[in-house]
Amino acid sequence: LRTSFSVIQKETGFVNGVIAVLHDNTEQEKIDVERREFVANVSHELRTPLTTMRSYLEALADGAWEDPNLAPNFLNVTQTETERMIRLVNDLLKLSKMDAAETELNKEMVEFGRFFNRIIDRFEMSKSQKVRFERYLPKEQYFVEIDPDKLTQVIDNIVSNALKYSPEGGKVRFDMTVEDGFLLIRISDQGMGIPKENVDRIFDRFYRVDRARSRAMGGTGLGLAISKEMINTHGGAIWAESEFGKGTSIFFTLPFEEDDGGEWE
Ligand code: ADP
Repeated sequence: LRTSFSVIQKETGFVNGVIAVLHDNTEQEKIDVERREFVANVSHELRTPLTTMRSYLEALADGAWEDPNLAPNFLNVTQTETERMIRLVNDLLKLSKMDAAETELNKEMVEFGRFFNRIIDRFEMSKSQKVRFERYLPKEQYFVEIDPDKLTQVIDNIVSNALKYSPEGGKVRFDMTVEDGFLLIRISDQGMGIPKENVDRIFDRFYRVDRARSRAMGGTGLGLAISKEMINTHGGAIWAESEFGKGTSIFFTLPFEEDDGGEWE
């Protein structure tokens, strides 16, 4: 319930009365507001690359196409922007599928340590030499029933953010432990961090601490929102801890099955 007051005052300063308005913010109203915000955000996110493309295409049509120095560069910009829009629309489709509970999980029993190690290996191969990786994974085996593609997307997302925001010579640390009957995964970086008041908002759709910076790095602002949906549908939770200027840790949990010593490949 929200209340607003208006004071009715004469020019002499004499107060005639007060009007109190009570706003009943029902759940439906909240959903409507969120939906309107979402549509406004999507429109904005699409309009930005479209207007950029329009001006570059106009310049090309106006004669830049004949300039061998300008043309390749201008075409490159329109290509990058097109790719961003495709990523954005793909991310939106993923989210709307999840909203409609249409996402089917292709679950498999997976030994999580091995699965996690493989993803880290892949990043280790292609990452810049300037960032170090440290792994703290248990020797024991932990079996989880997950959709490997979806979980790969989640981890890819978190690790690419960690790398994006890592300073030169920084360290990205991977932890896997057991906490209250759940596997607890933690991916930490020594990057710029996130101001305390914004930490929980990074899982919101389109929320970015620094919009320009995220855009410049090709981000859509939807990665962590998708990750959150995916972890939730797996029965886990995801959250972040961060110290501004020092670094960020992203945590997520997954229900697991105790290794019973049985035969697994
Ligand atoms: P995107 O990376 O496409 O902008 P995400 O949903 O992946 O979108 O992340 C949302 C925002 O959260 C980012 O724009 C950034 O501001 C912040 N963020 C995410 N991970 C980190 C990190 N490791 N360090 C600092 N900021 C981060």
